[in-house]
Amino acid sequence: MSTDPASQLPFYHGSVSRRDAERELMLADMEDGLFLLRQCQRSLGGYVLSLTYQGVFHHYPVERLPNGTYGIPGSMPHCGPAELCEFLSREADGMPCALRRPCLRAPEQPPRKGLFDTLRENLLRDYVKQTWSLEDAEDIEQAVISHAPQLEKLMATTAHEKMAWYHGKISRQDGERLLNTGSKTDGRFLVRDSEAGTFALSMLYGKTVYHYRINQDKSGKYSIPEGDRFDTVWQMVQYLKMKPAGLMTNLSEECANSTKAAKSPALPAGRKQHQNGYTPPPRATSFLRPSLPAPSAGSQLLPMDCSGFANAYHNPKDLKKFFINRDQLVMDEVELGSGNFGCVKKGVLKTMDNENGQIDVAIKVLKNGDESLVKDEMMREAEIMHQLSNAFIVRMLGLCQAESLMLVMEIASAGPLHKFLQSNKSSVTVEGIVRLMHQVSMGMRYLEEKKFVHRDLAARNVLLVNQTFAKISDFGLSKALGADDGYYKAKTTGKWPLKWYAPECISFRKFSSKSDAWSFGVTMWEAFSYGGKPYKKMNGTQVVDYINEGNRLGRPSQCPEPMYQLMMDCWTYKHEDRPDFQQAEGSMRTYYYSICNQPQPGDEAGAAQPTK
Ligand code: ADP
Ligand code: MG
Repeated sequence: MSTDPASQLPFYHGSVSRRDAERELMLADMEDGLFLLRQCQRSLGGYVLSLTYQGVFHHYPVERLPNGTYGIPGSMPHCGPAELCEFLSREADGMPCALRRPCLRAPEQPPRKGLFDTLRENLLRDYVKQTWSLEDAEDIEQAVISHAPQLEKLMATTAHEKMAWYHGKISRQDGERLLNTGSKTDGRFLVRDSEAGTFALSMLYGKTVYHYRINQDKSGKYSIPEGDRFDTVWQMVQYLKMKPAGLMTNLSEECANSTKAAKSPALPAGRKQHQNGYTPPPRATSFLRPSLPAPSAGSQLLPMDCSGFANAYHNPKDLKKFFINRDQLVMDEVELGSGNFGCVKKGVLKTMDNENGQIDVAIKVLKNGDESLVKDEMMREAEIMHQLSNAFIVRMLGLCQAESLMLVMEIASAGPLHKFLQSNKSSVTVEGIVRLMHQVSMGMRYLEEKKFVHRDLAARNVLLVNQTFAKISDFGLSKALGADDGYYKAKTTGKWPLKWYAPECISFRKFSSKSDAWSFGVTMWEAFSYGGKPYKKMNGTQVVDYINEGNRLGRPSQCPEPMYQLMMDCWTYKHEDRPDFQQAEGSMRTYYYSICNQPQPGDEAGAAQPTK
């Protein structure tokens, strides 16, 4: 999992030292213009471009600027590391020569992870786990993937609060006292809040305690006097452990805050929950400021700001029984939706699984007096759903046979995607839609891995828990594929959603994950057109002809070009050449992470408020 926009570049080596980079270049013959990109250890999101020319190594820092662009100091900024290298392959722009030949990583080898990456990933996992009280490793993974960009930004500004070496508001004297008790190792250190409103680093050296003020400049970067500048305090500490950089010696042993272990780090300081379940976003620094405006703007609630998330990710353990007793269920009058089978009602399920002893549910109620055919269909739907467990798929909680047959599911109260988008055009951003569709692709990737075909993927069957959380529903047409089968062949045609179906479904009744991918493309189109009707003026048969003639839906006006490209790929006529969900999810993720790294409207260098 990586939110690093360079991670896909084959010449990006990740966290390798200058010496290792030079060794790599040497092994690759050191011809003029040979280059590689590596991670910068000092700035979060920064790189170093290493180049050889006439037998000499040149290393250029590539900084991530506060407005989200990338540049070598003193030359032109570019929107990403890939664009920067592309440009420098055409123009030397102050370097001794243009980039000519990339020095590639070994095939199949991901970029080397750095101290920061590992630390960041562990923190992310911890964060998600504690914020939503998740235990299931798979659920944690899904939450991390879907929320990584927002969480990283938030975490970067608050992570020091979780570090053992951070002591908060203690005086200079208390700092000295703590360092003077215990081991007398040179470099033993702690960080505390300074009187001046930022931080101070206190370090033991030769039995004396030295104090360094940590300054924060206008763009939010931290530094000790005459030292390098860092995006976050914890990065600075990590760096100073490796290099003294202006200190008497490297930081060594952490003088641990004994109160840390006892504290609950569920929410970072300053993010106490309000009664309505909403927590105000923190103030943050420079580009690390969460790209999330106040929730009144609606669109960009952080996951942990919303009590709804806890339930959405929660995977009720004691509810894995297939049958539910009627006396565990209370049914509301509120109708959530309806269909041929009957209606879906809101209700409450009594459970031992959470503190309240009950959870809100959706109950699909079969019309009474219905013939056994429909009943069989609902039983089959329940059997399929019972085998699925993924954060982005509506979970079935059980089946109840009483006055009618009832399928009990977790509730997604914000309703179907297309309707939600139609009525919330002004508050849902394109970035918000990308996040939702990425979640759908994650759910579909899971389904593909488990060898199920959905056969009715459409915006009407993507339900929202809230504005930032989508779940795939309606498994009424779904099938489990045999272990060796790539597709399901329908015996007869039925009442089919032709506008969402791939050519091979219609011509040969063959359904596979690849045909679901076609439907995913149409669902994306619905989403990016804010709930528009695909092929509006045509009927099903006309659409079939239209597709066979080589036509496709046009790009919705708000739809970003890379997302339209993915839709078009999903509408590749031959299923062999169409992306599967492993690929589609990968593309969605790359694009989603890349736009989260872009500057947000209103982001200006230096305009951010410092945290402390
Ligand atoms: P159908 O097979 O008739 O399309 P669905 O399973 O799609 O049936 O459900 C019909 C409608 O009921 C949905 O469009 C939605 O409005 C509502 N609904 C279904 N499941 C849920 C749920 N888990 N949470 C909230 N609403 C739901
Ligand atoms: Mg439906």
